Amino acid sequence: MNVDLHCHTRASDGALTPREVVVAAAAAGVDTLAITDHDCVDGVAEATAAAGQVRVIPGIEFSTHFGGGGVHVVGLDVDPGDAGLTAACATQRRARQDRAVWIADRLARRGIADALAGAQRCADGSQIGRPHFARFLVESGHARTEKEAFARLLGRHDHGSSVRFFADMDTVIGWIRAAGGTAVLAHPLKYKLTRTRLDRLVRAFREAGGDAIEVVCGQQHARATAELAALATAHGLAASRGSDFHQPGRPWAALGRVPPLPPDCRPVWSGGKIGVGNTG
Ligand code: MN
Ligand code: MN
Ligand code: MN
Repeated sequence: MNVDLHCHTRASDGALTPREVVVAAAAAGVDTLAITDHDCVDGVAEATAAAGQVRVIPGIEFSTHFGGGGVHVVGLDVDPGDAGLTAACATQRRARQDRAVWIADRLARRGIADALAGAQRCADGSQIGRPHFARFLVESGHARTEKEAFARLLGRHDHGSSVRFFADMDTVIGWIRAAGGTAVLAHPLKYKLTRTRLDRLVRAFREAGGDAIEVVCGQQHARATAELAALATAHGLAASRGSDFHQPGRPWAALGRVPPLPPDCRPVWSGGKIGVGNTG
């Protein structure tokens, strides 16, 4: 059984259409795939229609914050037609737009004009994100690489302030649960928290109704997998597994090509809660 519960389509910042993602997942041997675009479920219907042999789980990846830092929470098996979820996505879309205006203002004060229009052009009709600003900064000659743009012009401090536009973690967990979904703390090691802060985050996540953490997210070191498995167990949380696929050609985030969950984990898909069967 090859379960991939985290990926993106062109509905957010992925390169492939939902149909193409499902076809690529099938070719990679994935039998269960959750579509988890950023702050929207716009790709779910097309993916479900294209499902074929792949079982498609409707999902979402919410941008949120905790303790002043950015956090992502994946919702699995949400009802994409849930009215509350639709309203939540609209709220997040407005937050994303407000944040983009704020980022552009900060850049303007540093002498970089027209960043909003530039980033919007890079987004090409999809929802605007910080990577689009990074691309604009490179294309307009303000940075040599996107990495440099992030480090120098879209930095960590700015990110800490910019995540406040989104709803807080308790709120997004509430949205997921109200839409019948299961809340998963995405890629816990990407937040670069100290052990104490990571424990605090995971405890707050569970107390707010969170169900699982991503023990495997893309290719990762066995040490990271073991650390996250221990974290899940220590907090009584289930374990999820996903690639965080965005586009082909990234072997560290390829559909279905990620390590298995350690045997001591309780898979989030066990017990039938998200309907992908029990692997025992
Ligand atoms: Mn993304
Ligand atoms: Mn994420
Ligand atoms: Mn993601």
